[in-house]
Amino acid sequence: MIAELDLQVTKTGKSKLNEIDFNNLPFGKFLTDHMLEVDYADGEWKQAHIKPVENLSISPANSAIHYGQSIFEGIKAYKDADGKPFIFRPYDNFRRFNLSAERMQMPAIPEELFIEGMRRLVDLEKDWIPMKSDYSLYIRPFMFSTDSTLGVKAAETYKFIILLSPTGPYYSVPVKVYVEDTYTRAARGGVGFVKNAGNYGASMMATAVAKKQGYDQVLWMDAYEHKYAQEIGTMNVFFVIGNKVVTPDLQSGTILEGVTRDSAIEVLREEGYEVVEQPVHIDDVVRAYEAGELKEVFGTGTAATISMIRELKYEDFVMKFDTDTWKAAPAVKRILTDIREGRREDTHGWMFKV
Ligand SMILES: *Cc1c(COP(=O)(O)O)cnc(C)c1O
Repeated sequence: MIAELDLQVTKTGKSKLNEIDFNNLPFGKFLTDHMLEVDYADGEWKQAHIKPVENLSISPANSAIHYGQSIFEGIKAYKDADGKPFIFRPYDNFRRFNLSAERMQMPAIPEELFIEGMRRLVDLEKDWIPMKSDYSLYIRPFMFSTDSTLGVKAAETYKFIILLSPTGPYYSVPVKVYVEDTYTRAARGGVGFVKNAGNYGASMMATAVAKKQGYDQVLWMDAYEHKYAQEIGTMNVFFVIGNKVVTPDLQSGTILEGVTRDSAIEVLREEGYEVVEQPVHIDDVVRAYEAGELKEVFGTGTAATISMIRELKYEDFVMKFDTDTWKAAPAVKRILTDIREGRREDTHGWMFKV
């Protein structure tokens, strides 16, 4: 049972809902009318508020800006055919959020604040959840330190906020990716397994170099040998080799444990695929391609769900794919979309009723 949440609600006098063109919703561009905000100080979470979205006022010595105690999550809410709102697997994101908080020496969020606070906010904003297929309401919980000091130390004060953003279909045409063997995303003992803001700042240079060369994303390699596949951009990666589906295992602590990754593994197994979590050596990927055994390469994440890779380049070797003939990735995409939009029975209990 979720404990009672004491929440103060202040509603806006003027909704922006009618000003937004729901046929044109670039990812993350528009916010709904309200946000949830709560401060942490004196060792406890204070009164939680749902209130109109407004700018924050923070000290220029704000410690999150200087030293990066800042974490986030990404979740989606949908409506089923009857217009009833649901959130996809919020408890998994809740657990991961507190894992991120622990690694970054930030306070844990109580379940009622994260889950019940989110539920109340989504309920208030349910008219913002688009009804069209492939559209959703993106939920962005985040926490950052609010100490005002230039000293490097774990802060004593924090802010937790949930924002909502109606979003259209992610640009999900098949993408071109190359194997990144200069820059790395995460090393053993580091913070690659958590969703902290600095990981993304650190990744932007590699993405910029890839774009200049006509690629959309990079396939990150391990930080030591540059030989073991990790993730594609901000998605987990899957390879269909022969009749097996292979995805990097999580033992190294350098890979973000995606909720979509887990959903994809479950769905693929139900569809009769053998799914193996193991270290994935790039030479084995190349050998499989040369033998005609590398059938599909795809990324998984909340934003795009499934992103098919039509070209993968390693050094001078280019692997090309005809994604029209693929079976596994489109099946995962179709099944997850059908569960989320209420057309397929939710046998896993993934859909959390708002
Ligand atoms: C968020 C994220 C993913 C995907 O996780 P989901 O829970 O499926 O959205 C994968 N890799 C990185 C680095 C991420 O930040």
